[in-house]
Amino acid sequence: MIAPDVKTAIARLRELVESSDVIVPFTGAGISTECGIPDFRSPGGIWTKMRPIDFSDFLASQEARDESWRRRFAMEESFGGAAPGRGHKALASLYRAGKSPGVITQNIDNLHQASGIAPEHVVELHGNTTYATCLDCGTRYELPWVKQRYEAARGRAPSCPDCNGHIKTATVSFGQSMPAEAMSRAEELTLSADLFIAIGSSLVVWPAAGFPLMAKRSGAHLVIINREPTEFDDVADLVARHDIGAVLEPFITA
Ligand code: NAD
Ligand code: ZN
Repeated sequence: MIAPDVKTAIARLRELVESSDVIVPFTGAGISTECGIPDFRSPGGIWTKMRPIDFSDFLASQEARDESWRRRFAMEESFGGAAPGRGHKALASLYRAGKSPGVITQNIDNLHQASGIAPEHVVELHGNTTYATCLDCGTRYELPWVKQRYEAARGRAPSCPDCNGHIKTATVSFGQSMPAEAMSRAEELTLSADLFIAIGSSLVVWPAAGFPLMAKRSGAHLVIINREPTEFDDVADLVARHDIGAVLEPFITA
């Protein structure tokens, strides 16, 4: 069913939320646009401005690593000050109420954790951009540490002082393998769901986009909240093509 208006979407979603025991939200960049972080595929999204840097390029060239860090520090203005939006708060409310065991996210912005969901209950399929790690030894580095060295070297990406490996934001780039543990935890959560809510994802990035379908096939109700149509709208029990904040705001509890 495609909800004809926000009011109907909220009413139908409320029925589904109340009749479900295990709600698993699956989020994409759209939940964070109201927080000032642009998504990729909307008009004006990040990809209308620049081509992503593949993992193989990052490994192969110092210039690609320098450019990748230049972009990351340029992004800090929008990412750095971002606070959770209405969608994040609504999901944190379901979590606190014991209705939702955790969130699966494609986002890298740390805003689910910031909204009060315990880090171990946020399954990050594409990692996290609010810190960095050494690709070889796994040591974690904070962004101010990287920035200081980057600037001191006039825009050259630093290497790991321990092992000389490349230091990269803790995100999963195109061409980089998916984190195995996050993938298996996401699958586990998905199969446990009786209500699966895909929020703000264009559902075109695989394998992440496979989870809504997996949930549906294993018997969960599927809700899609996204202002643009997705490929899975046909199989969903409820499609809300409306603003995420407007649909989820009534689910926020203090
Ligand atoms: P996407 O950009 O492909 O799709 C976002 C979708 O959200 C679009 O279909 C858009 O129409 C919709 N949308 C945006 N704002 C909305 C709103 N207020 N209400 C309703 N719908 C809204 O994003 P994706 O599917 O998450 O895939 C992009 C990949 O890029 C992700 O895997 C993620 O790793 C990364 N990314 C993350 C962030 C972040 O962490 N905030 C931001 C940009 C990209
Ligand atoms: Zn190292």
